[in-house]
Order: sequence, then C-alpha cells, then structure tokens
Amino acid sequence: MTVLDSKLLTREILLGFWKVHILHHAAEHPVIGQWVLSELRRHGYDISPGTLYPLLKRLERNGWLRSESAVGQGKRRRRYYRLTNRGAAVLEVLRETVIELHHEVVEEAASHAPRKPLRLESAPDAQASGARTRRADGRKSRSAR
Ligand SMILES: [Zn+2]
Repeated sequence: MTVLDSKLLTREILLGFWKVHILHHAAEHPVIGQWVLSELRRHGYDISPGTLYPLLKRLERNGWLRSESAVGQGKRRRRYYRLTNRGAAVLEVLRETVIELHHEVVEEAASHAPRKPLRLESAPDAQASGARTRRADGRKSRSAR
C-alpha cells in the first residue's frame, strides 16, 4: 500500500464530499449526471459514470434528490435531479458541518491557535516521535521550516 491509497480515500472520505457537492449544486439548479461529472472534474475529482450514477441513485433513494426524465439539448432524454425539501434540510446541516470543519481543519491549523490540550490516557507515540509542538508554557513552538 502506498502512502496515498486513493481507492481507500475515495471510499472512506471523498464519496461523502462528492455527495455534498451534488446536493449543493442540485439546490442551485436541476442537474444531470454529465454535468455533475464535469463539475466534479473541474474540482479535480476524476470520477467515472460508474461511480457517479449509483451515487445519484442513492441520494434519490434517501429522498434527498428527486429525478425526472425530460428531453434535453440535442433532443435526447436526460434524467434531471433536483433537491427535495428533505435534501434541503440535509444540506443545511451539512453547511454548518462544513463551516465547523473548515474552521477546525483549515483556519485553526493555519493560525496555530492555542487549543485545549487533549486529555488522552496515554500518548507514547506522540511523545516519542516529537510530534508535540506545544511547549510547557502552553505556547506553541515555532515549527521548523
Ligand atoms: Zn462544485
């Protein structure tokens, strides 16, 4: 296993992020699979139709999206997905979650804001590896660059 196991990352984490994207965009306008694929690619996710369509189906089965088939550009019938009220409620919770997560993972990490020390039973690995950057006086030591 390499350091970055992209399949594992996808299965464990990214699928959830993609669902957030889809709900977000479906709130803006009805979306078709092809559009979602190119939008996710724009975000740097190389996702295949074989991954996306089951995902859309799941979101629909959960009652968060509703789809209907209609004639699109080029006279081909396309399946349009739009957000349901239940999906909107989920999206609202997700927005709060993303804000909180961003605050913690991005802003706080960037500002090196002092945090409450974790009360772990024991953390021998962290101590042994020198992973602790907090000094005894509670201020953060400057990380070496
Ligand atoms: Zn997007």
